[in-house]
Amino acid sequence: MSRGKTAKGTAIKRIEMRRCVVCRQVRHKSELLRVVKNSAGKISIDETGKVPGRGAYICKSSECVATLSKRRNFDKIFKVKLPSELYDMIKEKVLM
Ligand SMILES: [Zn+2]
Repeated sequence: MSRGKTAKGTAIKRIEMRRCVVCRQVRHKSELLRVVKNSAGKISIDETGKVPGRGAYICKSSECVATLSKRRNFDKIFKVKLPSELYDMIKEKVLM
C-alpha cells in the first residue's frame, strides 16, 4: 500500500515572503532566520516561525550575517541593544 494519500484536503498554500533586514531582499520564509521580540521585550531566535511578537528576518547567508554583526541592524529595529551573544548565536545558526 503506497498511495501516498495525505489528509491535507483543501489547505491553501500560502506563499510567505519576508524581507531581510540586511540586504533588503524579499525571500521565502524558509530562506530566512526569524528573530522575535516578545511582549516582555525579550529577543530570541525563533526557529519555529511561530513565536508571537514582533519579528524581523535575516537571510541564511554568510554575507548577511557578517554584515549583521558589524551593523547590528536588529538594535535599530527592536529599539534595544542586543547582546553580542545573540548576534553570535544568529551567526552560528546560519553558518551551521
Ligand atoms: Zn540578506
